[in-house]
This record gives sequence, structure tokens and C-alpha cells, in this order.
Amino acid sequence: MEKLKTLRGFRDIFGDEINTFQHIEHVTRKYCKLLGFAEIAIPVLEKTELFVRSIGDTTDIVEKEMFTFIDKGGDSLTLRPEATAGIVRAYLQEGMYAKERVSKLFCIGPMFRHEKPQKGRFREFHQIDVEVFGIDDPLVDAELMWMIFLILNELGVDSYGIEINSVGCPGCRETFKKVLVSYFETKKNELCEDCIRRLQRNPLRIFDCKNAKCIEVSQKSPFLFDYLCVTCNEHFDMLLKHLEGFGVAYIINKRLVRGLDYYTKTVFEVTSDKLGAQKAFIAGGRYDNLVEEMGGPSAPGYGFAIGVERLALLTKMKELPKQPSYFFAYVGDRAKAYIVPMLRTFVKEGLSLSYSYEGKSLKSQMRYADSLHADFVFILGDEEIGKHIIVLRDMRKKIQFELPLEPSKLLQEVKKLITQ
Ligand SMILES: [Zn+2]
Ligand SMILES: [Zn+2]
Repeated sequence: MEKLKTLRGFRDIFGDEINTFQHIEHVTRKYCKLLGFAEIAIPVLEKTELFVRSIGDTTDIVEKEMFTFIDKGGDSLTLRPEATAGIVRAYLQEGMYAKERVSKLFCIGPMFRHEKPQKGRFREFHQIDVEVFGIDDPLVDAELMWMIFLILNELGVDSYGIEINSVGCPGCRETFKKVLVSYFETKKNELCEDCIRRLQRNPLRIFDCKNAKCIEVSQKSPFLFDYLCVTCNEHFDMLLKHLEGFGVAYIINKRLVRGLDYYTKTVFEVTSDKLGAQKAFIAGGRYDNLVEEMGGPSAPGYGFAIGVERLALLTKMKELPKQPSYFFAYVGDRAKAYIVPMLRTFVKEGLSLSYSYEGKSLKSQMRYADSLHADFVFILGDEEIGKHIIVLRDMRKKIQFELPLEPSKLLQEVKKLITQ
């Protein structure tokens, strides 16, 4: 029979990598809670319309990368390609905007994009998503970048840069689109077919093109940053002031535009040269009109997503202080019967006790204990049972003790020994 395998671009996560994932989640949860964020879990599957309406139908995600299918009821459904859309839907559906002035939410879980799998890129990948609704103060923009700075610091990520830009409001974007269209019109013969189409529908998308010629043309184009309106300019200046207040270093990258339609004002990416060509591992920005466009009240939003797979590559795992570990070696069925009371006593105390299910010879059990790096091994056979004792071997000091066999008394003696 043919062996069953994961789908292309999907994979199992286990061993060291899942430990790193959990560590990243733990550190992120800690700072989210310190800064007043509440965790939310949203569905993995939503109506396709949600993503088309929020992300924008001319984006690469919606045009090419969604896992979309028709279910048995005839509805078009999509596996979430990102979390913001679903969180906005929840914010509206659960009426959070009516209950609290500002909502601060975060969400951890898998996302799905039907991209061409390549090194470090998967069709199922994991994100930590952080969003704030109801406030457009640039202090929020800075506060979240500071949170990222704290998280990366604690994870031991050293070489990274926070690149920021402003993509303005619809007002300054209208002004800029005209500037941009007239620039690209003069370079039309150098653009790819996709970009010629983008020139009509959404010229800002040309900046996302991966075509070498288009990149070259884009790089010489005017910057939106230089055409910001007064309000957007002030917002950006305040952001910089707050970042300085928080002690967060940043790089202004006028070329940075996020590949989603909904962003306004602040956009940013956190990049590392250690990640190769695709340098960004955290990205986000402000979306002041999305909630309203999705049929909600006028509530500005701001947020970012951490790519967990990519951050895991940069995370330095510290060796945690090790708890002593115990192993129970037994000879014969009478001794084996002590596994149950021993386990109940040890696990209840929060201590880990390993043992062999098969028993076999004492020698092979000792070898097994060694392979598990057990610090202490209990040894029990008929002879010890007869004397109401159990032998405890300290594997580090290579010495042995005789302790009372009764598990609760035994535990007291063990505790005395390890605090000595
Ligand atoms: Zn503006
Ligand atoms: Zn192009």
C-alpha cells in the first residue's frame, strides 16, 4: 500500500521546533497580557466573501493564494489566509465596539495560503496576530512596536530592523495615484502584463510585483511618503516621537507598502538579514477604514502579525534549569505492581518518574535510565520488598541509599536528599 503523506506545503511540527513555537507563544502571551490584550480564538474556516471584502479583490492573496472550495451546501468557503479579517468580523459580530471604547485582541494559530512552496514557506503556517480597535492615536502604533521590541529581546533575537512608512489616508492616496499613474505611463513598455492591468485597477499594487523589470521601474518611482496630507504627516511625526520615547530604533523605508488594500497611515515590517531573500518576519499597520467598510461603525484599527516559523529560526532557546528526573527499575511482577502507587505519588507532587513497560533485565533498565539522563533511579526486587525497602541510586554521585518502600515516606526522604 502506498504510504500516506502530508499535502504539499503542509508538514508536521515536533521535537525542538514545537518547543521553540511554544516558547514564542509563551513570551508573546506574557507581553500581550501585560499591555492589556485579551486572547481570542476565531474559526479557521470562514465565508470567502469575508476575505474578498476585507483583503481586497485585486491583492495577490485573494487573486491567487486562497484555499477556497464550495462546500456541500453550495457556499464558497476559504481557509483563513490571515487573521485580521476574521478578528474584524468577530469584533462586529460580538458587538465589542459597543461594550468598550478600545478593544485589544490577540490570536494565535495556523493560516493557509496556496502559494508555491519554497524554502521556509509553507501552505499552512502559523501566526500570532495582535489588533487594536477604536483608537487612531499614534501612541498605539508606537506601543505595539515597543511590544515587538520587548518580545524579540526576550527571545534573544539580535539582528533585526523595524522598517516603518506611512501609506497615508484615502485623501493623500488619491493625490498620489495621479502622480504614480503619470509616472508609470511613461514606463509602460517596461512593465509586465500584470502590472499594466494593475496600472488601471490599482497602481499601488505594482510595488508588490516580483518581476525584475517592474521592481527596477518601481524603485525609481515617486514616493507616497512625499505626498502625505497634513493630518497623515502629523500622525507619522508623533509616531516617531513616541518610538524615541520608548527607546525603539527604527528605519524609515519610503518604499515599504504592505501587500493589502486596507492599510492607512502607518505600515511596518520587522526584517532580518538572516532570513535570506524574504527578510520580513513581522508585518503590520493601521487600517482606519476597514471596520467601517466591513459594515461596522467608524472604528480605526491597527495591528500586526508575527510569522512564527520565521521567528523560530531567529529565536535562541535558553536551557531551562533542569528538575531532577527519576526512574523506577523493577525486577519481577511483585515489584512491577509498585509502578502505580509510585506514579500516583510522584506525578501528584509534580515530579517526573519514568519506567520501562516491559521490565526485562535490571541491566537493560539501567541502560534505559541512562539514555533518559535520569538523575535518580529506584531499584526494587523481591529481596527489597521482603525488607520493606527500596534502593535509590544517585546516578550523578554514583552512590546508593536504602529508603522506606512506602511511597509517601519515600517521597519525604527523596525531598530531604535533593535539598542536601
Ligand atoms: Zn492623509
Ligand atoms: Zn510587474
